[in-house]
Amino acid sequence: MIENAISTFSLPLGIATNFQINGKDYLVPMVIEEPSVVAAASKGAKTARQKGGFVATADESYSIGQIQVLDLDDIDEVISKIKISSKTLLETANSQSKTLSKMNKGAKEITCKKIHTKSGTTMLIVELLIDVGDAMGANITNSMCEAIAPKVEELTGGRILLRILSNYSTRRMAKATAVFDKDNIGGENVVDNIISAYEFANNDVYRAVTHNKGILNGVIAVANATGQDSRAIEAAANAYAARSGRYRSLTTWTKNQDGDLVGELELPMSVGTVGGIINVHPLAKLSLKILRVESASELSYVIVAAGLAQNFSAIRALATEGIQKGHMRLHARNLASAAGALPEQIDKIVSAMIQEKNISLDRAKELVNQI
Ligand code: NAD
Repeated sequence: MIENAISTFSLPLGIATNFQINGKDYLVPMVIEEPSVVAAASKGAKTARQKGGFVATADESYSIGQIQVLDLDDIDEVISKIKISSKTLLETANSQSKTLSKMNKGAKEITCKKIHTKSGTTMLIVELLIDVGDAMGANITNSMCEAIAPKVEELTGGRILLRILSNYSTRRMAKATAVFDKDNIGGENVVDNIISAYEFANNDVYRAVTHNKGILNGVIAVANATGQDSRAIEAAANAYAARSGRYRSLTTWTKNQDGDLVGELELPMSVGTVGGIINVHPLAKLSLKILRVESASELSYVIVAAGLAQNFSAIRALATEGIQKGHMRLHARNLASAAGALPEQIDKIVSAMIQEKNISLDRAKELVNQI
């Protein structure tokens, strides 16, 4: 899969349970090295399930390709030329994929935008909107951009520089919402405290980054398990968090008429159920089989639901008992292992450290020596 490979680097594959999305049950595979993420997602999904689970939607799978055109005199005239020729340009783009064309998908629209730079120049960006079906679509988007670039150059008389997909996939949004019963999460006071915790994240970048990192714990773990390009998802999520001009919480938390907590998460989600390593990596194939998703859109909203479940558990813990209680118990296992405990000794060492309320590497080492 990559160059100069000397080995593989394994991470744990776990299954988050209790997920019900649009009335369908899911077992959600997660690949992540951090303890407590799978437990938190499962717990969040269990709480959401009591009020019907997640309601989720996703856009069609439109990717955006960008072509940069420089050295133009009259950009407005060039834009009208591109508009007139858009049918031919789309045909050229679509000649790149028989599969998409057969499915009545592929390049659908061409738009233009001007960018004014600090140095005083103006450049034209031609954008290609492509329905990439059930793939992430990075390669086909790049191929289509490269295929139409010479024609755009000829048409505009300008100079083409970049021809590349945008990972800010705002035409591929996925959304999940869920209601969390106030009585099951500790009452009205806890609901209000969770909303205050959210408002902190939404108005302070130092908190927002950590809050959104927690959401990405859920999102990226499922993305990794299913063989997605996680950097693309993460970069888009962070840009989306800053869409108002300020970096904010990706989730919103409110209260409904019954006083129950309502969570919502919407993210640009460029994922595939075909292509890339998805049909190559045996565990990605297995994960998709476990997940039983039928399309890239379905996968995209399952991933978003995992992010919402994760965020619920994290802010609930933070707004009540704090996260260390649950986290340290799981962390104790890693400490025991790092201290050199044999697999059969780990449970004993973990129990001792928890009982003593002394979860540390030093104590783990002492216990290993004693055993
Ligand atoms: P891909 O190149 O494997 O293309 C998908 C293939 O699936 C195509 O050949 C298509 O014809 C086929 N296909 C079969 N059934 C389909 C269906 N129902 N819908 C859509 N296509 C169908 O993969 P990709 O998705 O184009 O690219 C993903 C890979 O590209 C990832 O590994 C990613 O890391 C990498 N990549 C990313 C970037 C970026 O994010 N900026 C840039 C370049 C490459």
